Amino acid sequence: MFKQKVFSGVQPTGNLHLGNYLGAITKFVALQERYDCMYCVVDMHAITVWQDPAELPKATREVTAAFIACGIDPKKHIVFNQSQVSGHAELAWVFNCVARIGWLNRMTQFKEKAGKDRENASVGLYVYPNLMAADILVYRATHVPVGDDQKQHLELSRDIAQKFNNDFAASIKAHGFGEAFFPLPEPLIQGPATRVMSLRDGAKKMSKSEESDQSRINLTDDADAIALKIRRAKTDPDPLPGEEKDLASRPEADNLVGIYAALNDTTKAVVLQEFAGAQFSKFKPALADLLIAKLSPITAEMRRLLQDPVYIDSVLADGSARARVLAAATMTAVKDIVGFIRTEMRS
Ligand code: ATP
Ligand code: MG
Repeated sequence: MFKQKVFSGVQPTGNLHLGNYLGAITKFVALQERYDCMYCVVDMHAITVWQDPAELPKATREVTAAFIACGIDPKKHIVFNQSQVSGHAELAWVFNCVARIGWLNRMTQFKEKAGKDRENASVGLYVYPNLMAADILVYRATHVPVGDDQKQHLELSRDIAQKFNNDFAASIKAHGFGEAFFPLPEPLIQGPATRVMSLRDGAKKMSKSEESDQSRINLTDDADAIALKIRRAKTDPDPLPGEEKDLASRPEADNLVGIYAALNDTTKAVVLQEFAGAQFSKFKPALADLLIAKLSPITAEMRRLLQDPVYIDSVLADGSARARVLAAATMTAVKDIVGFIRTEMRS
């Protein structure tokens, strides 16, 4: 009933890391073969926490460069930054009025990011999931590749789409859109590295916004930095087990094995067959070598691209122009469905 389409976003909030790469960007690359894809640098999400206006454009270009360096084709697909397409904000407002406060109160990302000082968090951080639903649904996208941490927000997007379809069912039908206007977007969360953990704490996810740089491998790290961070990564004293179930109570070991498996496009079980009984003194250098081999060409290409900000901005301008046309068509329909009077633009 709905045309299949992929949408996903990455925030320009700081250093892109291995979690973003394995959990999201490698998936974005693979999906280009089978779907029409839209990959967005979500700068409006970024400002839900303070961003230095002098740094935000650099961070936006860095995410764009990472997309291209990893193999996303901005000509065949659409690469753009969110704030250049006003439909995201417009639809987010409608969704602010569809989503229920009780739904948002259950969101764990808000609780984690707001921390103890909840009263002092921005309202934007609280309604972040409504904007995320708008990002996806303003293109009526059907598939959303994300890391495991975004699963709850995707479920909320489905709830919003469903409630909009129900609340406005009669108007949707009357305007010729049939039984449902929005698809229920499906999360794509698969493989051994859907939740890459911090190198310093196996209970915390690897994050851009985490203070300690030692907790993550950045896409801009050089070979020495990668080797050092892996050598210092927290582990337990036992050798690696032969079977995956024995990783369950060992979060740090599980994380490193998962990273190795994802980089080699295989499973943890296969990695354990090779390293069963090995000490971390053997496994860690093998992991560092693999990381360097996979990441250093990307890092080099990102550096090269970032030397030409005019080119990067032209990619975003072109992608945004194409996205605007699609978003405007959805917003025209949404305004009619909701009952907003709209003046036809005449040329
Ligand atoms: P922030 O700390 O500012 O939220 P982030 O590291 O969580 O930054 P996002 O831009 O919020 O990065 O997320 C971009 C994509 O990367 C999302 O699909 C998210 O699920 C995925 N992702 C983020 N962290 C990880 C991780 N540790 N493991 C796997 N995927 C991740
Ligand atoms: Mg995040």
